[in-house]
Amino acid sequence: MLKGSSVDARSTKREKVIDRLEQNNKQVPSRIPVSEQTPKERVSNFNEVTLGYTAEQAVAEASRCLQCKLAPCIQGCPVGISIPSFIKLIKEGNFRGAINKIKEKNCLPTVCGRVCPQENQCEKLCTLGKKGEPVAIGRLERFVADYERESGKISLPKKKEPTDKKVAVVGSGPAGLTCAGDLAKLGHKVTIFEALHKPGGVLLYGIPEFRLPKAVVESEISYIKKLGVEIKTNMVVGKITTIDELFYEGYDAIFIGVGAGLPRFLKVPGENFNGIYSANEFLTRVNLMKAYLFPKYDTPIKKGENVVVVGGGNVAMDSARTALRLGAKKVYLLYRRAKEDMPARKEEVQHAKEEGIDFRILATPKRFIGIEGRVSAAECVETRLGELDNSGRRKPVIKEGSEFLLAVDVVIVAIGAKANPLLPKATPGLKLYKEGYIATDQNCVTSKEGIFAGGDIVTGSATVISAMGTGRKATLEIDRYLATLK
Ligand code: FAD
Ligand code: SF4
Repeated sequence: MLKGSSVDARSTKREKVIDRLEQNNKQVPSRIPVSEQTPKERVSNFNEVTLGYTAEQAVAEASRCLQCKLAPCIQGCPVGISIPSFIKLIKEGNFRGAINKIKEKNCLPTVCGRVCPQENQCEKLCTLGKKGEPVAIGRLERFVADYERESGKISLPKKKEPTDKKVAVVGSGPAGLTCAGDLAKLGHKVTIFEALHKPGGVLLYGIPEFRLPKAVVESEISYIKKLGVEIKTNMVVGKITTIDELFYEGYDAIFIGVGAGLPRFLKVPGENFNGIYSANEFLTRVNLMKAYLFPKYDTPIKKGENVVVVGGGNVAMDSARTALRLGAKKVYLLYRRAKEDMPARKEEVQHAKEEGIDFRILATPKRFIGIEGRVSAAECVETRLGELDNSGRRKPVIKEGSEFLLAVDVVIVAIGAKANPLLPKATPGLKLYKEGYIATDQNCVTSKEGIFAGGDIVTGSATVISAMGTGRKATLEIDRYLATLK
């Protein structure tokens, strides 16, 4: 029999299992719901919103899995976790076995279980999703990862014998951490160079505490350190040292994972008034530098009463919900396209709505008005959807005469980010493309010998798991490259 036809036969069989369940009035069982803080409770604190499964709930949810032979869910996972195997171990109550299975492919499971867009990846392809709700793969991943973290007994994988090769990893976001951890497992000596005073990248300075607690990120970083990775902070590569100097210092290969953290602005009049922040600055001040605890922490931030956030992605949702938790009475979210075009995760949009964020869809600021240098109002316009643009979405077109005013004292611009030119400028010979992203082949190899790159600095702003996927791919290529050196 042809391979394709056996595949078809098996998926038909799976469909039949579901059909039979339905015919016997045994509906595809619903997902086990997860506890959350109520919207009223959570808007006044920075604690995590979603509380996670208990052991009983996790076992019950794992029992919904059909253990499909073809496991379409795995095809949706950018790092290829053996999903049915870890779910089976949870069903059997073997939580430690389950986390070890995940860690064969993913070194940041507590992070991924919380922030990965599973609804567009593994869960999107889950067989159960065809007739009902897919298995809550992300929540199960989070459950076992938290189980291990809370037990305090973190198991370390077997490392290969030490080699005499040294690798420098620039940037400690998910791409850099994954590459560093995987290279350390292969026996190489790895040092991460991080520009900020703490490692973690966007996981630490971007995604807020109420979605991804800092303690969770710190425990993942401590795991990477336990694998033998050294982390040097306050090291801006391109300024304090350069890529060429790192080679001179004896590194055999270098991985660049510096993200794409340079904010984009609206370029409308009045955007320089005080009280207008890029989302990057706003979230970094609050998350990394604990501005919400001022004056205990000496990072000031303007806590607006009336706040406008511009954008429709996760960054915009995080900014709006953070502003609310800082004490804003009213937070508007302006998005110039249709609701269905919003790139944010559905769950985040839902949470933002429940918390009372005022969504103004099909609208955008035209200019900002200020008093004595401080923003006092946003003049906005309505938009309508025109022809398709390069992104495949319908282009927003301004509706003439639709101006309206919003009184505001803080504005947060969350319309995307781009590559920071600092490191590429200081690295002659490194080929770039588009707006300054680093050009690589499909295996993360750059135009300069011994230099590899991955994550947002190559793909443009993407996701945690896709950055990790490139970090993993780069590891294999770096390992191959190191083997060619004397
Ligand atoms: P980063 O995480 O950006 O890390 C790069 C690191 O390099 C940083 O620590 C930076 O300080 C350091 N660096 C930069 N320049 C230098 C230099 N010259 N020398 C040394 N170090 C340097 N994705 C999801 O999947 N789910 C989400 O829910 C989600 N929410 C998000 C919310 C926010 C607010 C933001 C900003 C992003 C979100 N993302 C989300 C996207 C995701 O976080 C990124 O795609 C991912 O972090 C990219 O990883 P990276 O390793 O390429 O870069
Ligand atoms: Fe099948 Fe979904 Fe279980 Fe994957 S998670 S094995 S797709 S039922």
